[in-house]
Amino acid sequence: MRINRNKRAQKNLAFYLRHFQLGERQRYFVLVDGTFCQAALKHRVNIKEQIDKYFRCDVTLCTTACAVLETQKLTILHGALQILKHYKVEKCAHSKPVAASQCLLEKVRDGNPGNYFVATQDSELAAEVHKLVGVPRLKLYNAITLEDPSEASTQHVQKISRAATDLTGEQRKTIALLKKKMNIEETGPKVKRLKKKLKGPNPLSCLPKKKKGIHGKNEEPASTQLSRAARRKARLKKLKNILEVPGNST
Ligand SMILES: [Zn+2]
Repeated sequence: MRINRNKRAQKNLAFYLRHFQLGERQRYFVLVDGTFCQAALKHRVNIKEQIDKYFRCDVTLCTTACAVLETQKLTILHGALQILKHYKVEKCAHSKPVAASQCLLEKVRDGNPGNYFVATQDSELAAEVHKLVGVPRLKLYNAITLEDPSEASTQHVQKISRAATDLTGEQRKTIALLKKKMNIEETGPKVKRLKKKLKGPNPLSCLPKKKKGIHGKNEEPASTQLSRAARRKARLKKLKNILEVPGNST
């Protein structure tokens, strides 16, 4: 179970690295809120220890001032606050504190410029994160788990891949124009070969089979040989007759 979980995590990390450049040079930034720290306390999970093992590198755990203040207000989250306080506090645009969910969401909106992973147990925040492209979410149930890429992310990647392989109408026109200029015909030798194949069997295969001679070599038919010899003999005989006839008569 653990092997599958780790393999899946590496596969998903590779996806985010390849398509969204998250984790370049093994630098990972995880935005954590109070709910995630509370879950870690409940399941007795050391976030830093487990996440480093899970990501196979040194991960930077971050939070925001708004997330710290919200956790501070909720006395039930006192233990979570003690954990959250140890994390790097990232700057946010809020002079007046807002809800942690709103603050974290604004940090990852507009293409996730900070290349963050979001670690939250807040289902509403998670649902909003899923709608964004290239924003991974971490959850914690017994162990920290990186979710599979959201539908928004996978669809975005598919769209980009299709756009990279499909030629636009303008590109097709340019290619056709260039081919015309360079006298490159649309039909290549492959097409010609195909046409030949369609015409019928190889004409060489239709030739009559040659009979083998006594030495096993292909020889002309005996009839042809005989007729040639006969013709030669007849010619000689005719010539002889012509030469002999006047002589005989005198
Ligand atoms: Zn904020």
